[in-house]
Amino acid sequence: MAQIRIENVRKEFGAFTAVQSSSFTVEDGEFFMLLGPSGCGKTTTLRMMAGLELPTSGQIYIGGEEVGMKRARERDIAFVFQMFALYPHMNVRKNISYPLVSQGMKKADVAARVAEVARILRIEGILDKPVGGLSGGDRQRVALGRAIVRNPKAFFMDEPLGALDAEFREHMAGELRALHDRMGATTVYVTHDQLEAMQMGDKIVVMNHGVIEQFGRPQQIYDWPATKFVAKFIGSPSMNFLEFEGMIGVGGDSIDLGGKKVAVPASREGRAGTLSLGVRPEHVRFVDDSSYRGRVIAVEYLGTTQIVTIETPNGEIKARTPSSQAARTDELLGLDFNARTLTLFNAETGRALV
Ligand code: ATP
Repeated sequence: MAQIRIENVRKEFGAFTAVQSSSFTVEDGEFFMLLGPSGCGKTTTLRMMAGLELPTSGQIYIGGEEVGMKRARERDIAFVFQMFALYPHMNVRKNISYPLVSQGMKKADVAARVAEVARILRIEGILDKPVGGLSGGDRQRVALGRAIVRNPKAFFMDEPLGALDAEFREHMAGELRALHDRMGATTVYVTHDQLEAMQMGDKIVVMNHGVIEQFGRPQQIYDWPATKFVAKFIGSPSMNFLEFEGMIGVGGDSIDLGGKKVAVPASREGRAGTLSLGVRPEHVRFVDDSSYRGRVIAVEYLGTTQIVTIETPNGEIKARTPSSQAARTDELLGLDFNARTLTLFNAETGRALV
């Protein structure tokens, strides 16, 4: 069992708080993403979970045991970082064997374990090659081999694909996920790339300025963003926000956009104020008979879809529509939104109204 739990964990560097009091649980076998922009505190959170950094306060549990004061090497975990430090003078087999040999494992057992790892990673054919001449992908696989060979309780990965070009990165992301599915080991993975997090993660924690903005499954976070920050950070192009003054009543309501009634989700916050209506670009529809209209500013052709930028009475929005749907610059279009897909935010606090 390698459930990892952090409770009220906080980290200060001098007067600066890098991670505000945070709590969440990584379930046994989960692929868990720490996601957020540069400087949000995700690496610091990972380093505390792994034992490379001591929390200022709070508790960390791995497999039910409190490990807050234990160092990384006492926690039975493995790391994969962006810059893989392989031993250049050793061949692939020796690089992968090294953690076992240095533990004093018997030769025959080392050979058996290395063969098993090579099979999992599909690198049996390069075991006797020097690491110097390997392609980027093979080096990556060898580094993974060295991480998994000890069969640790959990893996900690900090932007392991950050140095790769986009196409190869996507390929390796798929491989890593498949490897995880074969091994089933608890994995905590840091990234600033929302697509990578959505593609690979069972669960995602979204952080900003040292605070957890939201925690959940990728689809939950995409469909039900808890804050405007999350709504903006996840999805490309990001969610549109139509700002307006309104009164949101208890038990659901509809709002008036230029004479057009738009139903919005139920809300408990019964007060007047500035509101933001969040609309994903793929949920904007062009309809002839709508009284809510906007002027087309730009059309970007992307093959099967297009991104249409539109000036509305409530600000500029982007729509993702099929390219077959005609939209010309300067044209006035009637707009409609599917009520079930809208999210309403308090514009002052940035929090979703639910
Ligand atoms: P990045 O993707 O850029 O690494 P991050 O989200 O992983 O960003 P952290 O590395 O966790 O962010 O850093 C969070 C904040 O804490 C940053 O403002 C950083 O400058 C600060 N910080 C991190 N380590 C230290 C340290 N040892 N001493 C002082 N400040 C630090």
